This record gives sequence, C-alpha cells and structure tokens, in this order.
Amino acid sequence: MKMIKFDVMTLFPDMINQACSHSIVSRGLENGVISINAINPRDYTKDKHKKVDDTPFGGGAGMVLMCQPYFDCFDAIPKNDNTEVILLSPQGETFNQDMSVELSKKKHIIFICGHYEGFDERIKIYTAAREVSIGDFVLTGGELPALCMIDSIARNIDGFLGKIDSAHYDSFSDGLLEYPQYTKPRDYKGMPVPEVLLNGNHSEINKWRRKQQIITTYKKRRDLFDKFQKNCNNKEDLKLLNEVKKSFKL
Ligand code: SAM
Repeated sequence: MKMIKFDVMTLFPDMINQACSHSIVSRGLENGVISINAINPRDYTKDKHKKVDDTPFGGGAGMVLMCQPYFDCFDAIPKNDNTEVILLSPQGETFNQDMSVELSKKKHIIFICGHYEGFDERIKIYTAAREVSIGDFVLTGGELPALCMIDSIARNIDGFLGKIDSAHYDSFSDGLLEYPQYTKPRDYKGMPVPEVLLNGNHSEINKWRRKQQIITTYKKRRDLFDKFQKNCNNKEDLKLLNEVKKSFKL
C-alpha cells in the first residue's frame, strides 16, 4: 500500500495535530495511508530561554527565525532518497494540482513552517528546500499552507479517499473544472435536477457532464478554457467543444 510520511517543522504543533484529527485526514491516519509528525524547532534550541527568533540585522520590524534551532531540528529528522523538503513561503512557486499529484508520488515530505517575519535566509540554503507558496497573499505562519498541501496531496494517494474515482473527476484533475453536482430531492423549491441525470443512461450522463465541465470552465476560468482548447485532440471532446463554442458564439 502506498503511504506518505509527512514531517512538519512548526512552532505550533497543536495547530497541525488538531487540524488533522478530523474527517477524512484522521481516517487516513488511522488506515496508515499517511502519517503526520509535528516537530517543534523550539525543542532544539540551545538558548536557555528557549528563544527561536531574534531581531533582523540592519534593523526593521518583527522577528526573524534563527538558524541554530532550525538547522538542528532539520538534522534530527531521518531522511531517505525519496525525501522532498518544502519550505513554506509567500515567495515560493505557487502550489497547484499538478504539483500536488507530483508530490503524492513521494514517500516522505518535510514541511518547514515559518512565522513572524520569516526565516533567516541561511535556513533556506542549508535545507536546500523547495520554496512553495499557496497564493499571492501573506499569512501569519506556514501551518495553514502546510495543512492545505497535506490535505490536497493525500487526496491523490490511492486508498486515501473511499473511492479513488472521487478524485479523478475533481476540478483541475484533467485541466477542466468539475461538472455541477446534484443530490436528493429531485425538485427543491421549484428548482429541478437536470432530467438527463435521472434517466439512468450513463453514456448520456457522461456526455452531459463532460460538456458541463467545458461550459463551467469557459464561464469561470477563461485561462484554463483557452489551454484546454489549444491542447484538445480527443474526438469526443472536440465535438463537445465545438457545440459549446457554437452556443456561446465563439
Ligand atoms: N516576511 C515574509 C515575506 O514578506 O516574504 C513573510 C513572512 S509570513 C508573515 C510568516 C510565514 O508564514 C512565512 O515564513 C511562511 O512560512 C508563511 N506564509 C505566509 N504566507 C504564505 C503563503 N502565501 N504561502 C506559504 N507560506 C506562507
């Protein structure tokens, strides 16, 4: 069985442990598909006051995370040839579904979470980490980004979700957004479910869903739609794409 071990270097291990004690992620931990270990660099500081940060050289606001506790904490984590080291930073390459799938092939991932003003630059050099951001905004710490990434990466591991199919058709998995979903009742407050989903004809349902994926992507994410259009060479998809283009007069 495929399994990923996540080690998270964080000054706030409870944030990781508590967030991972719910729902599908906690089931993944129980099933042994993932393991998550939060390690606190503060436990490695040689400072008698347990200091892990200090003021920046050159002046300026805030506190900078110090080399010694981070170097020693990093050294204490066992690694192997398949270990990926990720340092959370708003300056990093932006996380996306492709990176998530790529990382789900790893066996061991170390996340290094920053806080306050961020890391002494030498921590980035020493750990040779890949810098990753979850978007162009600044958070107070790397814990939420690490949790987002763990959640997303774990979804791509066979056996993590109840039915792997539920990840295959997710938005972004093949460059398009997901089709609209409906559940019972058939009609709610005069809003009926599309008839095609009720007739049990799976070939029609699949065709309708695929077309809805194209329409949804066109309406919500023109950048993804343009890419899909450029690379589309599947006969069925081309037919549906042409129908969509015609209905939107493209
Ligand atoms: N001074 C840093 C800068 O301007 O690049 C920002 C430091 S931020 C307040 C503190 C920590 O939160 C960072 O070291 C990083 O670990 C994490 N962080 C904040 N925003 C993030 C983002 N968009 N993606 C990933 N990590 C982020």
